[in-house]
Amino acid sequence: MMRPDRLNPLFVAADSLKGVGPQLARPLERLGLTRVRDFVYHLPDRFVERRAVTDLDQAGVGENIVVALTPVEYRSAVGRGPFRVLASDAAGNICALTYFGRNGGWAKKQLPLGERRWIAGRLDQFGQLLQIVHPDHVLEEGGATLGQLCEPVYPLSEGLTQGRIAALVGQALETVPELPEWIEPGLLDKLHWLAWRDALMLAHKGDHPAARDRLAYDELLANSLALMLVRSANRAQSGTPLKGDGHLRERVQLPFALTEAQRRAIDEIAGDMEQGAPMLRLLQGDVGSGKTVVALEAMLIAVEAGAQAALLAPTEILARQHYETLSRMAAGTGVEIALLTGRDKGKARESILMGLHDGSIGIVVGTHAIFQDAVTYRNLALVVIDEQHRFGVGQRLMLTQKGRRTPHCLSMTATPIPRTLTLAQYGEMDVSKLDEMPPGRQPIDTRVVAVERIDDVVGAIGRHLESGQQAYWVCPMVRELESEDLAAAEARHAALKARFGETVVLVHGQLRPEAKDAAMERFVCGEAKLLVATTVIEVGVDVPNATLMVIEQAERFGLAQLHQLRGRVGRGEGKSTCLLLRSDALSETARRRLALMRETQDGFRIAEEDLELRGGGELLGTRQSGDTPFRVASLEQIQRLLPLAHDDARLLMDRDGGLTGPRGAAARLLLYLFERDWGVQLLRSG
Ligand code: ADP
Ligand code: MG
Repeated sequence: MMRPDRLNPLFVAADSLKGVGPQLARPLERLGLTRVRDFVYHLPDRFVERRAVTDLDQAGVGENIVVALTPVEYRSAVGRGPFRVLASDAAGNICALTYFGRNGGWAKKQLPLGERRWIAGRLDQFGQLLQIVHPDHVLEEGGATLGQLCEPVYPLSEGLTQGRIAALVGQALETVPELPEWIEPGLLDKLHWLAWRDALMLAHKGDHPAARDRLAYDELLANSLALMLVRSANRAQSGTPLKGDGHLRERVQLPFALTEAQRRAIDEIAGDMEQGAPMLRLLQGDVGSGKTVVALEAMLIAVEAGAQAALLAPTEILARQHYETLSRMAAGTGVEIALLTGRDKGKARESILMGLHDGSIGIVVGTHAIFQDAVTYRNLALVVIDEQHRFGVGQRLMLTQKGRRTPHCLSMTATPIPRTLTLAQYGEMDVSKLDEMPPGRQPIDTRVVAVERIDDVVGAIGRHLESGQQAYWVCPMVRELESEDLAAAEARHAALKARFGETVVLVHGQLRPEAKDAAMERFVCGEAKLLVATTVIEVGVDVPNATLMVIEQAERFGLAQLHQLRGRVGRGEGKSTCLLLRSDALSETARRRLALMRETQDGFRIAEEDLELRGGGELLGTRQSGDTPFRVASLEQIQRLLPLAHDDARLLMDRDGGLTGPRGAAARLLLYLFERDWGVQLLRSG
């Protein structure tokens, strides 16, 4: 499907911008800046406000100023000390311009003795001496500097500077076209919002909350609209009504009775599957709440009704684990279950493909390989997606286009997300919630431990391993600090291995899949005792004998993530412990967030309170948190503006569900702009 021409300038690759070569490509990519559009939406974290002063007497220590100074003397570095240029203002006050880690040659060139320069920077005091450390700007002419009294500070990654990124954003903004309005005019007036292009320009120039709100609103509106389009297209499609007779389900052997919540979820799912319209249901249940058996029952209904079912897992490890669990539970049913991942080759793969094609395989478990073009199904009528936030709604739709008829779709997520975000993430899906844990679970003893006590923690691990139990050691890993974090995780692994020997294994996202699986398998089978890992173990891994988890720099994790990680322990009979190692300098919010982890194990409560804690104060980049599908809208904006955007989208859909009127056409542009164009594509095909 074609993107509207007028958006083309925005979707040109980043290297069309002047100054972007192979060297910058990597750091830009790390920030998600690959097309002009991304630069346009790379909004400043904050702004530096500067005051122009004629002499230093007018300025306070700690203030950001612009001032004209004349260099009078160079002070060479002593030892590892800084290089200083002493400079005088118009009134004869002396100020040092201080450069660390430089040999002075560069400073001398910029600041020749006796020649007046315009300096922008933060005024500090060093003993008796006024100083500006690493001035932001040193210019011969004041005009340009004075024009930047309010300067944006952009999110950066290694290898980029503010100047560089600001210049690229500036270039990108020049290509921004005027676009027709997609927001309800009445709303625009009421909130005093600017037109899209003007809001965008303003948001890069200064601290303009209304402009930022409008841009965030756009993103939220695009998302709501797209999800509504999915839902309405789904309703219009025909699925296969599936009614099982129970002959397979009664042969499932479980060592436990289903909880009330599981029973309810299964009933709801069975009810959906009997309908002609394809099911679009979300199964929400905390880690350990028992989603797998619900999935099995749903899949067996499909097989009882003469159709096939597929379970899609985000990783090979999880696919294998699901495969083993399901095979065990369904052993008595005689249903053929197959595992298909990208790694299967040759004869084995051929025979699975045959089985799917001729229908002898009733249930297939795998990674996205199960939806490749070469895979054809005799009658695929149910797709279960585990942890679907990893795939995104777009991919989910692709999957469902597989058969002649649209399969029923059951998504399972363990990410406890607050109600507002559920709406943003899953839109108008029907929801079944496993709000009850299987009986007999022991609470996980959670403690927050200062990092200074790491030796005690290592000692505790030693005793734990000696007792025959296993443990996890989790290190943080975020995209912005990838190389540093990776190095830290490797160093930790080396240190623990030096102490505990070959029984320590390391798993992280940059390992080859084979190496990762091999390490994981050693841990799962109990040969390895201590698993050092970045967040790849976050989802689904089940090793009941692992009853201790240490999480390093716990304050850097999102609470939902900590909660999911912690759910890896407490899976067996034994008592489990989770140690949250924290740095010494914690903000008040960080302290409260960790305290919350200690206090409760209710994922939904954690999610709600985390949103509260973060939404209010810290304008946390949603990109790092990874728990929302938004890049522009902050958590606070989501909470405040999403209900509005949702209603606005609803209204538009009710009036013009095909998006054919003038506002509908503008809304299509919006969908492309935020890459929710799968919504539009459905519209065309549906
Ligand atoms: P989830 O996928 O929701 O995190 P699982 O399906 O892996 O949870 O189940 C977690 C554990 O609980 C498994 O060992 C499973 O066998 C067990 N379990 C599931 N349902 C029940 C139940 N009703 N009673 C007791 N144990 C259960
Ligand atoms: Mg699971």
